[in-house]
Amino acid sequence: MPYDSNAPPQVTLCDDAAAAASALEALRRYSYIACDCEGLSLGEVGGSLSLVSLGGIPGLGGPTHIFLFDAPALGAAAFAPVLALLASPAHTKVLYDARMDWAELAHRHAARLAPVLDLQLADVQARAARGEGAQRQFARLAPFVPRGDTARDPAAFRDVHRLNGLAGAARDHGLPEGYKPKFDHTVWGRRPLSQGSLDYAAADIVLIAQLYGIFVAKGYIDEPRLLEQSARYMALNKDGLRGPRGGHSLLPLEILAAPPALEPTFPCGRCARALSAACFPRGRGPVGEQTVCWVCRAVAANAARREMTQRLYGDD
Ligand SMILES: [Zn+2]
Repeated sequence: MPYDSNAPPQVTLCDDAAAAASALEALRRYSYIACDCEGLSLGEVGGSLSLVSLGGIPGLGGPTHIFLFDAPALGAAAFAPVLALLASPAHTKVLYDARMDWAELAHRHAARLAPVLDLQLADVQARAARGEGAQRQFARLAPFVPRGDTARDPAAFRDVHRLNGLAGAARDHGLPEGYKPKFDHTVWGRRPLSQGSLDYAAADIVLIAQLYGIFVAKGYIDEPRLLEQSARYMALNKDGLRGPRGGHSLLPLEILAAPPALEPTFPCGRCARALSAACFPRGRGPVGEQTVCWVCRAVAANAARREMTQRLYGDD
């Protein structure tokens, strides 16, 4: 195990310019920095950023010191050097699902988050390396996609993957989970932050660093490829802040592999992304549905099923 879980890292809240400056000096020694943002509805309309959590990842092992930057307390001037580190090409940021962090920083703070290794994508790709085939892939999709659907039309779900949350990935890779009770995210809008909130933020950084250590040790990370995939993943939100409840747990298509360069692309009638023909049931099914990508079709079918269940059984 590359991470020594017997040595809990030191955690420092940086809520004034002096603390932030000395934290950044310590962090700049690292080429790889575990990163996570906390806030209210990050990357969504009406949200706000509370903390940027950073921990330098040594060659072997987890972070020895985690710094939590309090964005509102620091104010724009003292927070700017933190944003500069997040944009610095000399420091690779390691995140787990960077999409909303990226959107929050880009659209509300005019800041760049780059370069990024997104472990959520590495987790999906590690499944094949660990010997998971189509059967396990489809089992993961259930109940979001019913087993009957994947059995009837396996080709439609060939590139449809269920995403893991950080805790799910930890479980899959043998790390202890259950480190987090159910958490009330409205705490990120309040000050002072409780010790429990700070512990929660720091625990994510520890887990990201642990997961990264495991992925590197097992050869799951092809760094140039993952950098490119991560950039594509984060750019899903390039057009602006997302509306509330816009998310789902399926990996959008053509993130792991870009659309083939010389093939034409078509806009999906729901997500509006330009995707290659393989992403659509062209020539199959009702005409109106032929221009909706496989992932959007599965999301819509799931929403319809939930609505029906609610109608039949009431809401509980
Ligand atoms: Zn779509």
